[in-house]
Amino acid sequence: MGGTLNRNQLNHFVSVEALTNEEVLSLIQRSEELKNGATPIRLHHEDKYAVNLFFENSTRTHKSFEMAETKLGMKVIDFEPSLSSLSKGESLYDTVLTLSAIGLDVAVIRHSSQDFYQELIDSPSITCSIINGGDGASQHPSQCLLDLMTIYEEFGYFENLKIAIVGDLTHSRVARSNMQMLKRLGATIFFSGPLEWYDDSFNQYGQNVPLDDLIDKVDVVMLLRVQHERHETYGNFSKTAYLNRYGLNEERERKMLDHAIIMHPAPVNRGVELQGSLVECARSRIVTQMTNGVYTRMAILEAVLEK
Ligand code: ASP
Repeated sequence: MGGTLNRNQLNHFVSVEALTNEEVLSLIQRSEELKNGATPIRLHHEDKYAVNLFFENSTRTHKSFEMAETKLGMKVIDFEPSLSSLSKGESLYDTVLTLSAIGLDVAVIRHSSQDFYQELIDSPSITCSIINGGDGASQHPSQCLLDLMTIYEEFGYFENLKIAIVGDLTHSRVARSNMQMLKRLGATIFFSGPLEWYDDSFNQYGQNVPLDDLIDKVDVVMLLRVQHERHETYGNFSKTAYLNRYGLNEERERKMLDHAIIMHPAPVNRGVELQGSLVECARSRIVTQMTNGVYTRMAILEAVLEK
């Protein structure tokens, strides 16, 4: 794998599109080193302060950033949006301006507005690094990086891998980040799922194919959560009908190539995107994705701290 660590000195980490392939590969490499026990670049970051601002709910992203910050020795400042001046009408910009002014080095932010980070990184007054923990249905760069790490760990390359991204494509920031990067890294992308959750803008990244025509041909089946919070229904289907028509059940899993793996960014709707028994099955990497998330987030934090 190419890539040099020096290139990873980032001011902010807000979208994977902004990174070169070399930078992405170098961050994956660093994540693997950290997973294998490498010492963080600076042994202690106890003079560095992080704050995690989550305006949408989160378990994995929020807590694994907190784990990563703690493992790097950073100090994590507590911030609960509903108990802050945001509830008095203060804007996100003014909140981050304040946090930067009082000495925070890094702000990890998840927000429902697309590109919420732009005004923050454009501001000369905000000096802390901004990390995008997910902006609406737009991008989820740290999830993308941990997914890439998980695929790389499994196969050792991206070129010509066949990857199916399946489910609620329109509303998924994970899908958007992953289709862009995987295509750029040379993988062949296929999409599957209800047509009402498919957008013609995805055609530039891959082909839309029924899951039954794909299942015995792809190396990775990447399932997406049905995003209840961004729309009302399972489309025109009951949960079981969704699973049978678009999801991964045991019958389909048996048709997968021997070496093929299952991924899902989680939280999983068991019995909808995939049959509950498959979440921890031998070819599932869903738990590995969660573990890898800590190391990729350590690598991202190191990169912005070393800027
Ligand atoms: N946890 C991921 C996200 O925040 C995936 C999901 O929620 O479906 O986008």
